[in-house]
Amino acid sequence: MKSYQEWQALKAAITLPSQAYINGQFCSAQQGETFACINPADEAVLTQVASCDQADVDLAVQAAKAAFSSGSWSQMAPNKRKQILQKWADLLTEHADELALIDTLDMGKSIAEMVSIDVPDSIDCLRWSAECIDKLYGEIAPTNADNLALISREPVGVVAIITPWNYPLMMVMWKIAPALAAGNSVILKPSEKSPLSALRIAELATQAGVPNGVLNVLPGFGHTTGKALALHHEIGTLAFTGSSRVAGLLMQYAGQSNMKRVWLEAGGKSPCLVFADCKDIAAAAKGAAAAIFSNQGEVCIACSRLYVEESIKQDFMEALLAAAKHYIPGDPLDPNTTMGPLVDKAQLDTVTGFIESALQQGATLEMGGVPEYQKGQGFYAHPTIFSNANHDMSFVQEEIFGPVLAVMTFDSEAQAIALANDSKYGLGASVWTQDLSRAHRVSRQLEAGMVWINTWGDGDSTVPFGGVKASGNGRDKSWHALEKYTELKNTWIRL
Ligand code: NAD
Repeated sequence: MKSYQEWQALKAAITLPSQAYINGQFCSAQQGETFACINPADEAVLTQVASCDQADVDLAVQAAKAAFSSGSWSQMAPNKRKQILQKWADLLTEHADELALIDTLDMGKSIAEMVSIDVPDSIDCLRWSAECIDKLYGEIAPTNADNLALISREPVGVVAIITPWNYPLMMVMWKIAPALAAGNSVILKPSEKSPLSALRIAELATQAGVPNGVLNVLPGFGHTTGKALALHHEIGTLAFTGSSRVAGLLMQYAGQSNMKRVWLEAGGKSPCLVFADCKDIAAAAKGAAAAIFSNQGEVCIACSRLYVEESIKQDFMEALLAAAKHYIPGDPLDPNTTMGPLVDKAQLDTVTGFIESALQQGATLEMGGVPEYQKGQGFYAHPTIFSNANHDMSFVQEEIFGPVLAVMTFDSEAQAIALANDSKYGLGASVWTQDLSRAHRVSRQLEAGMVWINTWGDGDSTVPFGGVKASGNGRDKSWHALEKYTELKNTWIRL
């Protein structure tokens, strides 16, 4: 790992991308519009980035369609596509430090997390998707002997992908890797709060041999670029990661346009259940703290609701407050920093608003509190823990997407499950118990796409990631991701 000074030196040496990437080259937005990319750690303008609109979307769709129809990628032998994607992964590995730095500057995530989690996970996802694609067999249906029915998977065509800012590179890669591996042409709209790494990796994709027009990146705002993509008639599939509010809008846009398939990985308000039989209270507390304070709490699967069995509440609270001390806000470029700033002032205001509402509604502040913002000093918030919270409080029901934890208690397994499920969301859940039967029983009854037992957030490219209820419908990663980016076709042959 580089030292603080070495990261600063790399920062001075790199050139940040700032233009849209269409048909294999960088270009300005057609209207010449730009927006400022801000470093959340010091509020300095990093660069002005092209702000795309309908005209740029049309251009990218044309390029993507032409690439798809030409067959230069869509009809390429899967084994050849695999080789190009692996070469791209090699280039990303070569540029790993640069990519880590770009995301840290762009959204405030600690460089230590970028180096140890985001970049390696993204490259692994790309390699895994590349390796999958020449192992994806079709089927022959068990029809009668006079017929032969082939069932095959085909790429959809032009796929639009819209991503959030909290794991800029990783959220992008979880979607573009399987979409490209399957042979689609992709138009990616990264978040306007963190568009830079997506632009850089698109350039590297071309270098690796991905044909022009197959991967296009349009920086811009949701209500312009994003909406134009979602309403476009030539786009076959739209894959989205972001808030449940926008996810709902995208379903409407699909219905108003061409009924494109819409895959949604949306928000969360995940519960953490700590049973008295968890055995190691300190380990559970450490896990619970990581589940809310990692990445400044800007994590879709953040366990922002914690339910601890009444009989161990006091011991657990002491352990939790001790574990939370590990998270100290600081300069995200310092490799020792465990918590960076929030992504922008709007996010800081949202977090501040929820902390104030919790105080007004009578929750007990155990740690942290209202952030003390000073203009020009970055958007920092402290780890904040409330006890004596209840389900009528807005900060217990709504996704905060910041380092704010509500601690509540339960008396029985049934009550713990009922409280955990009392949410419109259903993304993840973390359960701490040494009782294997209880672990299975509780997991089966939790309304969540992912349940972690005696841990939180673990996963790899082999395991699907996604939720239920207002947390969405799609799954990233694993073979299941390919289901989003392929169509089933049957070909019936009369013999
Ligand atoms: P957001 O919904 O505000 O924005 C996400 C993307 O949608 C951005 O690129 C944005 O520009 C775009 N967008 C906004 N309005 C749009 C519109 N009208 N039409 C088309 N596109 C539009 O979310 P965010 O603030 O970027 O990210 C935080 C959210 O993402 C949280 O709710 C978090 O839980 C969720 N998230 C979910 C997962 C998951 O896998 N389920 C992973 C990471 C983040």
